[in-house]
Amino acid sequence: MKKHNFYAGPSILSEYTIKNTADAVINFADMGLSILEISHRSKQFTAVINEASQLVKELLQVPDGYSVLWLGGGASMQFCMVPYNLLKKKAAYLQTGTWATNAIKEARLFGEVDVVASSEDKNFSYIPRDYVIPADADYFHFTSNNTIYGTEMRFDPDSPVPLVADMSSDIFSRPIDVSKYDLIYAGAQKNLAPAGVTLVIVKDSALGQAGRPIPTMLNYQTHVKKESMFNTPPVLPIFSALQTLKYYKELGGVDKLMLADEEKAGRLYDAIDNSRMFEGTAEMESRSIMNVCFVMSPEYKELEGEFVDFAAERGIVGIKGHRSVGGFRASLYNALPLESVEVLIAAMKEFEKKH
Ligand SMILES: *Cc1c(COP(=O)(O)O)cnc(C)c1O
Repeated sequence: MKKHNFYAGPSILSEYTIKNTADAVINFADMGLSILEISHRSKQFTAVINEASQLVKELLQVPDGYSVLWLGGGASMQFCMVPYNLLKKKAAYLQTGTWATNAIKEARLFGEVDVVASSEDKNFSYIPRDYVIPADADYFHFTSNNTIYGTEMRFDPDSPVPLVADMSSDIFSRPIDVSKYDLIYAGAQKNLAPAGVTLVIVKDSALGQAGRPIPTMLNYQTHVKKESMFNTPPVLPIFSALQTLKYYKELGGVDKLMLADEEKAGRLYDAIDNSRMFEGTAEMESRSIMNVCFVMSPEYKELEGEFVDFAAERGIVGIKGHRSVGGFRASLYNALPLESVEVLIAAMKEFEKKH
């Protein structure tokens, strides 16, 4: 049976990415060798990483003066690398969920942290508005999409200081004004590639000013200078990322991806809002188009487990909600076809009829 993959991460990748990755594991670039067993300094792999960086710049219209890096350690490593490299005295952070909270914790190791607003009071079900970013902060850090709670900031906030964003779960779902940012990072396993690589886009002129010694591997300048080849980069995930980026370009770039993502999310939210059995958990204005979180209304609560099984019988996998929200979470990343959303909606309607 065809599977409809709603996992939050690692998550669905395009068939193009999976197929080309599988082929490269057998025979990479007609070398008669697997990509798993060749030098990262071979001309064939150097071409891969260069093309991937070039496509990131093209798809997101990255201006001159920025570097694209491919690093290990996950998005979680960026929680400490960012303040290590960019926090001189004080940084501003927006607390919109678990990942933002983790980023704040790390930043406190390096200086003063001003948490300008938090939505913890309502279990992170909304994006705070009406906060003031101090003009003397070194940067303002936010999480553009809160994967666990299904809330999203689908805009580049106005700020008196440069922006830094964790875009792990919504990068390539809309155009970004990169010029407003000192740094953007994204763990690959949500909208780009298998786990193991983190994409970083950094403004070169923002580096080298922290006034503290930084260990070589944690210093962005090391990786800028060596074009992500200071040590062995995550070769296979970078190859897969290139396939996804080619596929995104083929589809028409981020403008087209955004339309498709809005269509998918719009349909699912409509189904939830028009149902007597299901209800969304995120505030309307804060809803994510990447992760749709919903629960069963109180009178049907005990049927949640049954619905997960009911959906599984129809090939729907990965819809169980994160433990901190409960219920369900349908992740609608770029590679998820509209058809899968239709199958989920049909299952919801059928289940509602049954009860
Ligand atoms: C998944 C996720 C992370 C954690 O990523 P790792 O690569 O596992 O460290 C951080 N931030 C956001 C927004 C995420 O969705």
